Amino acid sequence: MSNSLSDKVITNPPEQLRCEIAVVGSGPGGAITACLLAEAGRNVLLIEEGPFLSLESCIPFSKDEMVQKYRNGGLTVAMGSPKVQYVEGRCVGGGSEINSGLYYRTPAEILEKWRREFQLEALDEADLLPHFEVCEQDVTVCYLPGKPPDASLKLHEGAIALGWKSFEVPRWFQYEEQVDQMTVPKGTRQSMTKTFIPRALKAGCQILANTRVQVIRFQGNKWLLKSDHAPLASHVQIEADYLFICGGAVQTPALLRRSGITNNIGNSLQMHPTIKVTAHFPENVSSTDMGVPVHQVKEFAPRFSFGCSISSPAYLALAMNDHPTDRHEVDQNWQKMAIYYAMMTPSGRGTIRCVPKFRDPLVRYGLTDGDLKTLLEGLQKLSMLLFEAGATTLYPSITEGPKLTKQTKINNLPDTLPRKLTNLMTIHLFSSCPMGENQKICAVDSFGKVHGLKNLYVADASLLCTAPGVNPQGSIMAIARRNALHFLGKL
Ligand SMILES: Cc1cc2nc3c(=O)[nH]c(=O)nc-3n(C[C@H](O)[C@H](O)[C@H](O)COP(=O)(O)OP(=O)(O)OC[C@H]3O[C@@H](n4cnc5c(N)ncnc54)[C@H](O)[C@@H]3O)c2cc1C
Repeated sequence: MSNSLSDKVITNPPEQLRCEIAVVGSGPGGAITACLLAEAGRNVLLIEEGPFLSLESCIPFSKDEMVQKYRNGGLTVAMGSPKVQYVEGRCVGGGSEINSGLYYRTPAEILEKWRREFQLEALDEADLLPHFEVCEQDVTVCYLPGKPPDASLKLHEGAIALGWKSFEVPRWFQYEEQVDQMTVPKGTRQSMTKTFIPRALKAGCQILANTRVQVIRFQGNKWLLKSDHAPLASHVQIEADYLFICGGAVQTPALLRRSGITNNIGNSLQMHPTIKVTAHFPENVSSTDMGVPVHQVKEFAPRFSFGCSISSPAYLALAMNDHPTDRHEVDQNWQKMAIYYAMMTPSGRGTIRCVPKFRDPLVRYGLTDGDLKTLLEGLQKLSMLLFEAGATTLYPSITEGPKLTKQTKINNLPDTLPRKLTNLMTIHLFSSCPMGENQKICAVDSFGKVHGLKNLYVADASLLCTAPGVNPQGSIMAIARRNALHFLGKL
């Protein structure tokens, strides 16, 4: 970072800070909001709980990355039966620093559902199109300019053999020029620290990292933010005319509720619960430099979709914890193994509540019987696909659950997924402060302003009215851009 930009990074904050616009949280929602407001000449302070690290501070998808950039090292759980492990970024750039970069626009039928049920105004496909187009250029959304990873191709081949819809998903990546079509191209994820954060700094935005906003209060026509700066173990009070909360779908409602703002806040958390299957193939499908798998199977979308996960030895070892008697396979054969997932759009929902004296909120999430049936169907179909692709053994993420082989096929799967033993996870969380004019269910208006409160906005995944059924960051970026321009009177 050049000297002039690093001047904008506050490392030794005074006890009192003042700005026109404070933005809390620097993930895709917060980074884009702060950047556009600063570029419009406004005085902006971006506050982030996690550290300000470069994208290169650790190897992507490594244990170091979990320690440096994940909230609680990735050990966060939504309580319920089954419980769902969820993962959030906690660093400048938020989830964009640790994610796979798989890009989608919000499906038109989802926007229509939001318009109908949430009375969301001015957000149909045509309204969002210009924002998608600009964001896609800003973060360089593109296809892989060469060979996809073998494990990703296996998923695609299995789907095509069954006549199911499967395709490569574009990503926000910049690739090195490809010379050899037989190797997987190397590239750099265009996270927020590579795109909107440097732009924001250049436009004069200040950044205060390692600082958690504990509570907010409206007093004397200003917002006051009581914050803790971790490195100096000091308290910082920030005063702002306008306040944007962008802490992500769990932390945004947690902060608002801690501050006594509770109307339709944290009552409607949604996610894409995901069940995993580790597949063993006769030939090598994984390697240390395989990159991110890029194919998804959308034959059964929006009910469920399939994809391939990062399958490094560390991730495989974690996945095989459910099958302790075969865990040694990872030591001996990890290159022949890969992790796949079925990700669903559920009808269940969750809540976020603050617990006195606890730092983290209590997150609860309930899957309905119908959701569990859908997940089981997803698991069955994914297993069929993987056998079609040549897998010899499959290990579903069910504790000491059945192992499926070419002989048993899917017959060993239970009739119902056991609630206590099925291990679900998610990396997609949203809808905890839904937007729209339907004040019975919406926390904020159609442009992110909190109903009934002055100069307070939400601009992150919390706004999405329901689960979009596709990877969400594309939606979050476009909506943050639209809402920032609306705030500036530039729509
Ligand atoms: C491993 C992983 C892989 C993913 N892969 C994809 C993908 O391929 N495609 C896709 O579209 N999506 C993907 N996602 C999801 C995507 O990253 C998130 O939807 C997106 O980052 C959410 O953006 P956000 O702005 O709502 O919040 P976040 O990115 O969660 O950022 C919120 C930030 O606010 C900070 N914060 C929270 N509370 C406070 C506070 N009180 N004070 C100060 N700061 C605070 C947090 O530390 C965090 O940095 C993935 C997510 C993960 C974790």
